[in-house]
Amino acid sequence: MKIAIFNENLLGVVIGDRVANISDVAGWNPVQPNESFLQLVENFEELKGKIETAIESCPTFQLSEVKLKSPVPETRKIWAAPVNYRNHQIEMNKLFNNAPRTIEEIKLFLKSPESLSGPSDPILLPIKGRRTDHETELGYVVGKKGKNISASEAKDYIFGYFALLDISIRGNEERTWRKSFDSFTPIGPWIVTADEIDNPNDLAMKLWVNDELRQDGSTKHLIYDCYQCFEAANQNMTLNPGDIIATGTPEGVGPIEDGDTVRIEIEKVGAFTVNVQYAEKVVTEYSTTGK
Ligand code: MN
Repeated sequence: MKIAIFNENLLGVVIGDRVANISDVAGWNPVQPNESFLQLVENFEELKGKIETAIESCPTFQLSEVKLKSPVPETRKIWAAPVNYRNHQIEMNKLFNNAPRTIEEIKLFLKSPESLSGPSDPILLPIKGRRTDHETELGYVVGKKGKNISASEAKDYIFGYFALLDISIRGNEERTWRKSFDSFTPIGPWIVTADEIDNPNDLAMKLWVNDELRQDGSTKHLIYDCYQCFEAANQNMTLNPGDIIATGTPEGVGPIEDGDTVRIEIEKVGAFTVNVQYAEKVVTEYSTTGK
């Protein structure tokens, strides 16, 4: 099932080029999308049949005429993979003459939950003159609370998958800071529930800036696959429904500029296009006054 949130926080199921408003069937309250989302995730097994039965009689909209929002309304944490593809490590070495260590050595880092945005929201560049890159990633949202879950059991804890952009300012500051600005984690266009993705570790992924194909990879080249990322984020650390995991980018990263459009596409998941513009308060550099 492709689960979308659209217009004024309505809950939808996408079928072909239309989206059905299933808010009533699912007991969804548009005023409290986060609470409603957590209830949906928790009760999905039970609700799934009910939604499938009722969907024929739900009002539908042309997808092109609705505004899609982040399919996860809010999150408590975003765990993200650093270098998780060998060819990305090689390109970073060529670009910056400093091969970053891979996930095998340094595991995961956190992005601010506030960086989450949707497939209709622009990417807001906060610093003029600093290289800010696109990273194409497969992301997923946790569906069940868990701790000490091994990779072999992780599949049962994943609610669904989406395309994710891990927007990154390059430089020497902490990854967490460089990747946590508002709008730096667009996800979408919807959640494809895990029952529809037999193997998340073999999905083609592409990214274009304007009309130029920049990234053309596959999750089959992940160093830690989707389930191993889950394990790394979960040993003596609790994962909760609504938590997000970003699995890392293949090679082909590059800068984005004010006025660009960025399109991400993941096989069996979907595609979305976002605009890039300067943030409301764009600066030329951040400085600190303390030590
Ligand atoms: Mn990344």
